[in-house]
Amino acid sequence: MSENHPAIERLFTQTLARNPGEAEFHQAVREVFDSLDRVLQKHPEYAEASILERICEPERQLIFRVPWTDDRGRVQINRGFRVQFNSALGPYKGGLRFHPSVLLGTVKFLGFEQIFKNALTGLPIGGGKGGSDFDPKGRSDAEVMRFCQSFMTEAYRHIGEYTDVPAGDIGVGRREIGYLFGQYKRLTNRYESGVLTGKGITWGGSLVRTEATGYGVVFFTQHLLATRGRSFDGARVLVSGSGNVAIYAIEQVQAQGGIVIGASDSSGSIHDPDGIDLDLLREIKEIRRGRIEEYVAARGGRAEFRADASVWSIADDHAVDVALPCATQNELDADAAAALVRAGVAAVAEGANMPTTPGGIRAFREAGVLFGPGKAANAGGVATSALEMQQNASRDSWSFEYTEERLAGIMRDIHERCAETADEYGAPGDYVVGANIAGFTRVADAMLALGVI
Ligand code: GLU
Repeated sequence: MSENHPAIERLFTQTLARNPGEAEFHQAVREVFDSLDRVLQKHPEYAEASILERICEPERQLIFRVPWTDDRGRVQINRGFRVQFNSALGPYKGGLRFHPSVLLGTVKFLGFEQIFKNALTGLPIGGGKGGSDFDPKGRSDAEVMRFCQSFMTEAYRHIGEYTDVPAGDIGVGRREIGYLFGQYKRLTNRYESGVLTGKGITWGGSLVRTEATGYGVVFFTQHLLATRGRSFDGARVLVSGSGNVAIYAIEQVQAQGGIVIGASDSSGSIHDPDGIDLDLLREIKEIRRGRIEEYVAARGGRAEFRADASVWSIADDHAVDVALPCATQNELDADAAAALVRAGVAAVAEGANMPTTPGGIRAFREAGVLFGPGKAANAGGVATSALEMQQNASRDSWSFEYTEERLAGIMRDIHERCAETADEYGAPGDYVVGANIAGFTRVADAMLALGVI
């Protein structure tokens, strides 16, 4: 945008040229840069120390071959990634994504977002991300185990509780973290619990970590709604996805009296006007690892399946109060946002990373819809990972109640920090600006203090 500080435009052009073809990374950088004009006006020291240039360049990027043998005895080759983006605030921290679409640019966009998200939690964690183009869908447990072991056989040299602490993301849950941790332990001969988070409860995991991202999104949205004197009680809610984030977002919405009328997976979406039967959805998606369409028959035809249609299509003909995109990047575009606005949506909060396109964000902004960006709204997952690291470091384990209280407090503080920062920088109510600036300044100040490194 032409009104931006000249350094921002120069740097954005440079970032495009240096990272060709990485559209999602460009999008993530653009969104942060567009919030920073006022920061550079106020803090010339950041430009003088080339903080923006440095922050866009990962400290280290690893790409490695992951060979493994499938159940038929054939050798398969995948690509593994770990981008160690920024360690000014603490060890690199961020998930691993196993999905066939994963490329270096995907991991860089996620790693870049992670820097600011982690900074917003107020906890001592830097930003990183990793993953592979491995597709766990349709693979046996034994295949997933052999893949994870091979991935870790390279990754273990680069990670550690004081260096880099991976966790889960799309395609990586407790099963995968278990196989990865087992191989790390075997290779290093160390029971180094703090090297991975999202572990099982009996082997170093934290209570509430499984629920944390979904619950956190809802806690954040609760504060958003409260700024307009509203709550989840009786609210009609659309949640995209049906994975770990979506499931626990639905659970928490229901606990707060909301009615979740839609959910989805990669094959389509379901509309259940009476409110989703969460036990049934979990049985289909978590236990059977089936397709969401099965929900309709099991519900005795009281719900409707919309093949290949996004959950936002429900907004074309039904009123919606809250939308929680919890599936994947760029799943909510300008048209879907316009439909949600027409359906009367009051608040949108991102459970996934960058699920709303720039056009979608614009539409919400113009309509005055409360919008919680992922960096802030979904930070509860990584924040609880940091709590898991604390428990590992002190060889302790906390109760569910205490850990949930900590999570709720962190989400309340993030909301407050974003709102106050947006006010301070002349953009009241703009949580995109608030989250970007609050996250950025925390990292930038630490980078200034640590010198040119
Ligand atoms: N993948 C999650 C995220 O996007 C969690 C990362 C973590 O726990 O390290 O924030």
